[in-house]
Amino acid sequence: MLALQKTEAAPGLSLREVAEPGLPQAGEVVLAIEATGVCGTDVHIAHWTLGYESMTSAMPVTIGHETCGRVLRVGAGVDPALIGRRVTVRPSVLCHACPACLSGDEDNCTGRRGVGIGRNGAFAPFLTVLAENCVPVPDGMAAEIAALTEPLTVCREAVDTAGLKGGERVLILGPGSIGQGIALFAEAAGAGEIAIVGRDDAARLQRLNALGFPNTVDSAGTSLRAALAPWLETGGFDVILEATGAPSVIPEALSVLAKRGTLVVVGIHPAPAQVDLTALVRNHQSIRGSYRAPVATWAEVLTFLDRNAERVGRMISHHFPMSEADRAVAEAGGKAASKVMVLQEAPA
Ligand SMILES: [Zn+2]
Ligand SMILES: [Zn+2]
Repeated sequence: MLALQKTEAAPGLSLREVAEPGLPQAGEVVLAIEATGVCGTDVHIAHWTLGYESMTSAMPVTIGHETCGRVLRVGAGVDPALIGRRVTVRPSVLCHACPACLSGDEDNCTGRRGVGIGRNGAFAPFLTVLAENCVPVPDGMAAEIAALTEPLTVCREAVDTAGLKGGERVLILGPGSIGQGIALFAEAAGAGEIAIVGRDDAARLQRLNALGFPNTVDSAGTSLRAALAPWLETGGFDVILEATGAPSVIPEALSVLAKRGTLVVVGIHPAPAQVDLTALVRNHQSIRGSYRAPVATWAEVLTFLDRNAERVGRMISHHFPMSEADRAVAEAGGKAASKVMVLQEAPA
């Protein structure tokens, strides 16, 4: 089968023939993949930016972790009723051996391995995963909508981490698909105003307008403060959610954050950011990091997707067939793209 793999600790990806998975072991299922979204993580892995060295020992490894497929085969101990069900995959595979796992606190496992990072992922027609990582999706949900579940759990977790209260003024930095999903959940949490800033980002800001968010700002050629000047006349933002991964954005963001405001950092930053801690102290501000969502969030996001499928589907800007999965990752790294989907042909 054709798979998109990371084969060496250097820039690049390989679209290559690999063996199809064998029969599933106990507790495992084999999925026939239908749709897999390209994540910023896949782009980072392709460019081989800092932060992914740990996947070297798993190479060659198939990437892709935002996926949906149908259960094709089940191993011993797995309910055969799952066969034929459309599922999405929680990419975090537990070690079942660390103190957190042994005490039943799976959200804090310290030995987890990621599907599509530390073990084979979903840019391929078939994927073997543990049944415990599969989440059945509501009847009638399209595969590419279900494939948005994982990135939207990240967005939902960011809004939860912010502790957003009704009526608060929200600023979102970064108009890519994570920024777009954050806007959806900030709105659902009752945000007052929502402003979204990009830099040289006409296509993605337009997509936010099409998603129903008119207050978009392009900060190209100017500072964040200057770009947001009309907004700042009535004070700083109560909550800022950062999804750019650009360290230089952090001090700029703190300069437009209200007293007692909260900055949530979601981007993966290739270098440390400079923070004026004295200003932070005097303004009683908080900086919080937000990453993977707890298991309980998945069902809530699937319900949200089921109710808002048409609207959320507008996040998808490009479709590619599996035979062009490498081009899909390249496109996702450009500024014209929002969510890029790789589609498998239905298996014979
Ligand atoms: Zn992702
Ligand atoms: Zn563990």
